Amino acid sequence: MQVPFLNLKAQYLSIKDEIDEALKSVIQDNAFIRGEFVEEFEATFANAMGVKHCVSVANGTDALEIALRAFQVGPGDEVITVANSFIATSEAVTRVGASVVFVDCMPDTMSIDTCEIESKITKKTKAIIPVHLYGNPADMDEILEIAANHNLVVIEDSAQAHLADYKGRKTGTFGHAATFSFYPGKNLGAYGDAGAIVTNDYKIAKYARMYANHGRVGKYDHEFEGSNSRMDGLQGAILHVKLKYLKEWTTRRQGVAALYRKLLGGLDEVILPEVTSGASAVWHLYVIRTKKRDELKAYLAKKGIQTGIHYPIALPNLKAYQYLGHQPQDFPVASLNQDRMLSLPIYPEMTDEMVEYVTGCVREFFS
Ligand SMILES: *Cc1c(COP(=O)(O)O)cnc(C)c1O
Repeated sequence: MQVPFLNLKAQYLSIKDEIDEALKSVIQDNAFIRGEFVEEFEATFANAMGVKHCVSVANGTDALEIALRAFQVGPGDEVITVANSFIATSEAVTRVGASVVFVDCMPDTMSIDTCEIESKITKKTKAIIPVHLYGNPADMDEILEIAANHNLVVIEDSAQAHLADYKGRKTGTFGHAATFSFYPGKNLGAYGDAGAIVTNDYKIAKYARMYANHGRVGKYDHEFEGSNSRMDGLQGAILHVKLKYLKEWTTRRQGVAALYRKLLGGLDEVILPEVTSGASAVWHLYVIRTKKRDELKAYLAKKGIQTGIHYPIALPNLKAYQYLGHQPQDFPVASLNQDRMLSLPIYPEMTDEMVEYVTGCVREFFS
């Protein structure tokens, strides 16, 4: 049996007629940049999230950068985020001219260690960017309390957590704003780059929308210099079609995760992922940990099973952040995890047989 890490083709085939029809409409209407299809998606996504505003942008990295700019985070400011994420999270902080301050993750949920946040707050701290990594919500109650005590902006990086739930509310609705990526492999993925910022704050939404479109109010009436970070019509139309299926797809991801948990339970050599208390994860990734990570990865590859590592070098340990002068032992959990994590395949199109095959091979490896 072959188990790819993802199967976007199977997903396309399951909704092919609707997608093809949507693409045709965009082209016939020449609605290439923003336009009616993008606006329709923005309205539907805001509604699904239960927020007032959804501002589409070109990708999830821009979404973070523009959100930070909207809150006037810039030179002289510090922004706290987690040591284990994709570089886009910290990159956005640097791009607006602020300084990134990393916090280690927790050993069980691999989410930002809320106990460590307070010790990293200084007079310069302006914002916290929690990441709902792997689709598992960060501990928002703790984060919001800290943020309120220190008057900090909270921007949720929800790139991996579309419609995840924390204590009965969607993640992405807790902070002052949240950002999304619709990169093709994300739980809600476009057929190219796309992203969005959601917020209940009209002023933030308005600024973000203008910034992403050259700071314009009219066609050639620019109130400030912004950028070109617009979602294109084809992506808007695709996302609008796919959003209808997201709930069903998420339920299947949760089914796959539950089956992994059942079939891998009791293996002493493997640590299974834990969900944050009170949360319901949407399982963008299923990340197990083992001391024999590299051997297991090679063994599974030989068995036709593709796996991934997210991420093999924790952010503070990257060459890109050498200038901060951190040592791996400054972030003991993230640094240990980078050598032990392994992402098993998880996607809605995975069958029970595929999960059984993967878990069978994992058990075989350890026996
Ligand atoms: C994918 C991702 C991003 C960036 O999104 P792009 O659309 O690829 O720019 C940001 N943060 C996290 C956690 C991500 O996984």
